[in-house]
Amino acid sequence: MGRIAILLADRCHPKECQWECQNYCPPVRMGQECIVESKETGKPIISETLCIGCGICVHKCPFDAIKILNTPTADEAEIVHRYGYNGFRLYRLPLPPTKGITGLLGPNGTGKSTALRVLAGTEVPNLGRWDVPPTWEAVVQHYRGTAFAAHFQRIQRGELRSVVKPQYVDRLAEEPQTLAEYVGASGGDPRDLLAQVGLATKGDRRLTELSGGELQLGAIARTLGTDADLYLFDEPSSYLDIVHRLAVARILRRLGERKSVVVVEHDLALLDYLADQAHLVYGEEAAFGVISHPIAMRSAVNTYLTGYLRDENVRFRTEPVRFISHPPKPPARRNVAVAFDALDKRFDRFHLTVGAGELARGETVGIVGPNATGKTTFVRMLAGAETPSAGTPPPGVTVSYKPQYLKVTQPASLRERIETLQSDPTFDARLLERELVPGLHLDGVLDVALPDLSGGELQRAAVALCLARPATLYLLDEPSAYLDSDERMAMARLLRRQIERSGATALVVDHDVYFLDLGCDELMVFRSVRPDGSEGRGDGPFPMREGMNRLLKDVQVTFRRDPETLRPRINREDSVLDREQRAAGEYYYEPLDR
Ligand code: SF4
Ligand code: SF4
Repeated sequence: MGRIAILLADRCHPKECQWECQNYCPPVRMGQECIVESKETGKPIISETLCIGCGICVHKCPFDAIKILNTPTADEAEIVHRYGYNGFRLYRLPLPPTKGITGLLGPNGTGKSTALRVLAGTEVPNLGRWDVPPTWEAVVQHYRGTAFAAHFQRIQRGELRSVVKPQYVDRLAEEPQTLAEYVGASGGDPRDLLAQVGLATKGDRRLTELSGGELQLGAIARTLGTDADLYLFDEPSSYLDIVHRLAVARILRRLGERKSVVVVEHDLALLDYLADQAHLVYGEEAAFGVISHPIAMRSAVNTYLTGYLRDENVRFRTEPVRFISHPPKPPARRNVAVAFDALDKRFDRFHLTVGAGELARGETVGIVGPNATGKTTFVRMLAGAETPSAGTPPPGVTVSYKPQYLKVTQPASLRERIETLQSDPTFDARLLERELVPGLHLDGVLDVALPDLSGGELQRAAVALCLARPATLYLLDEPSAYLDSDERMAMARLLRRQIERSGATALVVDHDVYFLDLGCDELMVFRSVRPDGSEGRGDGPFPMREGMNRLLKDVQVTFRRDPETLRPRINREDSVLDREQRAAGEYYYEPLDR
């Protein structure tokens, strides 16, 4: 156990505070130079040797800019990279075998993307010596005699060919190229690559015209087209529906049969299905990350859910995550909040029909199905933002809506936003401050300008603001995007609890099976009626068993239960269990008589 002091430089504003960190620090008051001002940055430098770990500076800093942490492992020799004296540090690396798929599983902000860049050879690790320019020579020397030696020697000699699929694919939408030009830059045949990911007809579209899912598939196609030894995929499932997630998983599994592949992924069911082994990453966001030794895939997810890494005697979750293998019992009495007619919407090239349905008070209803089947159009019709061609949206429904793509238009911080909304009678600032901000772990970013938040932080802030508007119906489009697995599970539970408590109803469009399992009471299922995608159909809500069976029958996937944690696991195609479950029509839950 060692102590580290982290200064979050973007939150430290030494001209706007009284230097409380330094003024209240006990060693400083005893005349020791525990906190001094940096001549270069004008910000504090905290001595980890002199610090006694009292935590006073952490509480006194008005901008929450300091973290003093005890790390389970603080062996300086294991530091791979350190961003400055009081900066983030990454301990250990994953070692990809020459063939097969290795997963990286852990919270956001714990160094997974840094690890990918180091493995790819695009970032030279400084081995903790942040004040000396790093070199590959030093890295090779450091890892001499270890399993990493050959890998870094290949990088040093320029012999390792690697490619990274970037995390934030929506940024590609700023590029002026067509999809075929972007994919063709990999050196592969764009027509063949786009056909592999199901975008054969979209090659001449500009990147600016594509949806998030199409950009993701384009980025995957370009990565696949690159002739490399090491393929690194940073969050390949973002924006993809369940059909495309499975299709991408199958493509990556085929790639893993002949190449070395590393995947960072937060959809646990997907990672479990596609990877052979995984390294868990634990630590503290923006402070430090430790990469575990490799663990066989099934044990890796189970260890992650139980929260105790036996090998290293580290507990990173106080309560294990539990699943139930049987569907939840439907309530004895349903109190209908919103009843909607059959709705019909015709566009030039798309026709949507939705069967009549009822949404009950206090229930969270998942909306599932492939992209481009009309889920968002349905949500917009209920919200009154789209007029149906036939059928009438339910009258008198007040709606609070969290869109799929988040755009920040104001430079304000979340705290400033809340202050402005205090006087808004259509907003519950108390609920936001007391329940949603702590429940979604937003306390630490209240003073950060919204444009500076990470994708996951912005998503949590948007969900909090949406839930703080009193309404009959909450519509949340892909609330799990950019969240790590822990944040997804925490949000699923908070959402369900909050909706139950308020007696409102929530409709949630999402593709993460664990999120839906933990967060939803019922499901609406959307599907494409015609092979050319010109007609979509939505039905429900259905109880969870029926909803999951309808969805998974459409996408031809069955799940079994892990005996230890009861978590759902995707069956291998055409395995004995897969065939048995299809024959019984039980795609997700255990049969009731078991
Ligand atoms: S860490 Fe906090 S208290 Fe210290 S200088 Fe920075 S903003 Fe001020
Ligand atoms: S935690 Fe360390 S740096 Fe902070 S006030 Fe206490 S002794 Fe000083």
